[in-house]
Amino acid sequence: MLSVFCYIKEFLRPEWWKKFLFAKTPPLTSPSYFRDYPHLTGNECTHELRCMMICPSPGAIEVLKTDDGRWEPVIYKGHCIRCGLCVEVCPDNVLASGRILEQNETDRTSYLSSYRLNVDDSLCMRCSNCSVACPINKVIDPNLAYNATSSSDDVIMRVKNSKLTILHPEKCTGCKTCEKTCPNGAITVARIVEGDQDEE
Ligand code: SF4
Ligand code: SF4
Ligand code: SF4
Repeated sequence: MLSVFCYIKEFLRPEWWKKFLFAKTPPLTSPSYFRDYPHLTGNECTHELRCMMICPSPGAIEVLKTDDGRWEPVIYKGHCIRCGLCVEVCPDNVLASGRILEQNETDRTSYLSSYRLNVDDSLCMRCSNCSVACPINKVIDPNLAYNATSSSDDVIMRVKNSKLTILHPEKCTGCKTCEKTCPNGAITVARIVEGDQDEE
């Protein structure tokens, strides 16, 4: 009973009402250490796609062909988390949003990205869909599509002797076509990004 009384007494204090009715919150501003969304600098995009490869936010950036035949990165603000990695990684400085790292040429800081292909043998049916659909495999061995396997040791992966073997993961561009084509969810593509700084 006493606690109810104290509770009501608290609400009767003019000080409380003043604070409640005239409460002020600071205006919403981005902290100075936040970057803005990346914007185009006007430098020519050479279609290396490093920005798309490094972007951690799905659907945030896409490199598209313009009506006059140039390549141009497009930022989708609803997905972009303003991390700035695309800005850092572009060798041609096509994008800007304020840099945290010095430019690559100045301190030789860069990112290395590679892909790891994981195959779950318990799910893989050895159907070859992934290796036939892979656009890099298509270039290395055009006959793979007819034979559903390859005699070339240069392909990224192939089904041979009833086993899907990954031969050259370093040639993977991370397009995920294999992942999308697999009917059983047996193959996944993981991106690995490492920072690299030349000591010289
Ligand atoms: S700033 Fe980050 S999240 Fe936004 S597009 Fe660039 S890499 Fe992707
Ligand atoms: S991610 Fe693309 S390039 Fe890499 S193995 Fe799969 S289909 Fe080939
Ligand atoms: S598409 Fe899937 S099931 Fe078929 S060989 Fe490739 S990983 Fe195995």
